[in-house]
Amino acid sequence: MSVKMVKFGLQFKATLENVTNVRPLGEDFRWFLKLKCGNCGEVPDKWQYVTLVESVPLKGGRGSASMVQKCKLCGRENSIDILRDTTTPYNAEDNETFKTMVQFECRGLEPVDFQPQAGFAAEGAETGTQFPEVNLQEKDWTDYDEKAKESVGIYEVTHRFIKC
Ligand SMILES: [Zn+2]
Repeated sequence: MSVKMVKFGLQFKATLENVTNVRPLGEDFRWFLKLKCGNCGEVPDKWQYVTLVESVPLKGGRGSASMVQKCKLCGRENSIDILRDTTTPYNAEDNETFKTMVQFECRGLEPVDFQPQAGFAAEGAETGTQFPEVNLQEKDWTDYDEKAKESVGIYEVTHRFIKC
């Protein structure tokens, strides 16, 4: 029996202060996720990550995925792939609303939780000042924009998943 392919969107929401263009930086950005097996419902405790620099071939010549793994409980082989072209920055005008930042193509599993960590970037909303090292692990980030002489920040980061 073939397992259906489903696309999930990771929607990001935050309060932005004087910044825009919040985005994952680089091919090696790690999306830390908890993944639920669609067959038996198992959700491993540990965070797992997928990144664009890792690609694993799928059985039967069905292309490749960012990660292929066997469920520890039921043994089924599941996969998840980052859809490269769906990565979208979170901008000033998206402030406090959910916006899809990336989509994942999943076979046999679904993402159920997301932990933002280091590796994001942002820029000053009016100044274009680059902030290349934004860590959202604490769900809040602050810095200072020298050009604007004002504080910048990303607060109350939250997320949800939707079916695309
Ligand atoms: Zn399973």
